[in-house]
Parts: sequence; structure tokens; C-alpha cells
Amino acid sequence: MPKDYKLVNASSGAALRALKFFAFVLLTALSLATIFAVCMIAFGGLPHERADFIISVIAISACVSAPMGAMAAQNQYQLDRYHSTLHAMASTDPLTGLFNRRSFERFAGEELERIKRTGHESVIAIFDLDNFKAFNDSYGHAFGDHVLTEIAAISHGQLRGPFDKIGRWGGEEFVVLLSNLSIDQAVGVCERLRMRIETSRMLYKGKTASVTASFGIAPLDPVAGLAASLERADELLYQAKGRGRNQVTVAPGARDAA
Ligand code: GH3
Ligand code: MG
Ligand code: MG
Repeated sequence: MPKDYKLVNASSGAALRALKFFAFVLLTALSLATIFAVCMIAFGGLPHERADFIISVIAISACVSAPMGAMAAQNQYQLDRYHSTLHAMASTDPLTGLFNRRSFERFAGEELERIKRTGHESVIAIFDLDNFKAFNDSYGHAFGDHVLTEIAAISHGQLRGPFDKIGRWGGEEFVVLLSNLSIDQAVGVCERLRMRIETSRMLYKGKTASVTASFGIAPLDPVAGLAASLERADELLYQAKGRGRNQVTVAPGARDAA
């Protein structure tokens, strides 16, 4: 799941930063101690056993700075973890761990800028679970929640790691950004995901069930902008619903134009 993936990365990043912080405190203290010892010898003419003196000063400084550095590094680590958790909470949906609307919009905005620079094609797909109200009514809301987390994991597994982005748009509706992909290729990805959803058996507290999803696909249009591209994908999603659900709909002509 993306949620776990993010937290593992955040944790190892924070540990590395804490280690660097510790090394910095220790090295700074040892360097200062060495400079102090050398200055004492050069300007004070002290003492006769210079090597012993330098070693003693460095040893004392290490004894003082190591625990202080460790404490400071631990604080830094906790602060970093706290910051990462807050960031994850602000940018992800708590139930599924997918990106929330706000962070998805930020990624899509960045993608639009990239498209303007490079001229490559990217695609927006919106999909919505079919008859999910009836599913909740038959199997219960808790099973429904479980299905949403399973759909998130299945969808995330079908996409190309860091290139594509998937968010929970709201309720039982998801949004996908397929970066650097033609409409034809995007139809292939969505069709594969649709079939994967249809054939997945959901298991919860001894009950099994399955769900289907309908998809609308539109190009991420740098001229029209994100809102208009999403609106177009949404219209196509509702056409898919009108045509009987459990299908992928793309604008007529979009595939030829691509
Ligand atoms: P359609 O195929 O036209 O999309 O029908 P639908 O029943 O899926 O659509 P409708 O908009 O009528 O109902 C959406 C349902 O999704 C109702 C709501 O209870 C359910 N839902 C939305 N968010 C959640 C959630 O977080 N957990 C659960 N369990 N259900 C949710
Ligand atoms: Mg629905
Ligand atoms: Mg819906």
C-alpha cells in the first residue's frame, strides 16, 4: 500500500538524518577540542606532556559530546517522524492511504507544467464502483470500507510506481493520472484494472463478494486545464454508467486524435 511505502521511506530518511546530526555534533566537538588543545600548547606553553594533554582534552570532549549528540539526534529523529506523519495525514486519505484530492491536484498541476515543457501526452481516468450503495445495504458499511481499501491496493498495484498517481476523489470514486501515456495505452491500463477489479474476490469476516467499476478517460489537456480535463473524464464515466456499468469509456475521436 502507498501508505506503508511512504512511512517506511520517511522512517529510514529520518534515521539517516538523525545519524548525520549525531556525527556532526561529535565531529564539531572533537574539532573544537583539538583546536583548543593546540592553541593552549602554542600560546600558553602548556603542558610538558603535550600528547597526553591533547588526548585527555579530546577524550573529555568525546565523553561530553557523545551523549549530548545522541540526545540531540534522538530529538531530531522524533521531530522528523512527527513531521512525516503530519505530512502523510495532510496528503493522504485515511481509509485507503491513497492521495487525497488536494495532493492529487498538486501532482496533476505539476504534470500539466511538464506537459507544457515537453509536449508529451498524459491521461486522466476517473473510476467509480458500481451500485456501491446496494453493496453497503447488502453486506454492511464495514465490508464496504474493506472493499475500498482492497480496491486501492489493487489499483495501486496495477500502476507504474512513481510515474502514475492515484487518489481517492471522494466516496467510492477514484482518480488516476497516467503520465506520459497515449489514450490508447491508457485504455489498455484501465481495461486491465477494470478486469482485475471484476475478478477479485473480496473476503471479509467469512463473507465473500465482488464489485465492478466504471471508467471515464480523457486526455490531460494543458490548454483546457485540470478542472476541464477532470470534468470531461467525469462525463465519460457517467456515459459508462448509462451504458450498463463495468466498462471503460473514452471520448469518440480521442483515440484517433492521439
Ligand atoms: P453507481 O453505480 O451509479 O455509482 O451507484 P452507487 O450506488 O455506487 O452510487 P451512489 O452515489 O448512489 O452511492 C454511493 C455509495 O457509496 C453510497 C455510500 O454509502 C457509499 N460510500 C461512499 N463512501 C463510502 C465509504 O467511505 N465507505 C463505505 N462503506 N461506503 C461509502
Ligand atoms: Mg458508485
Ligand atoms: Mg460515486
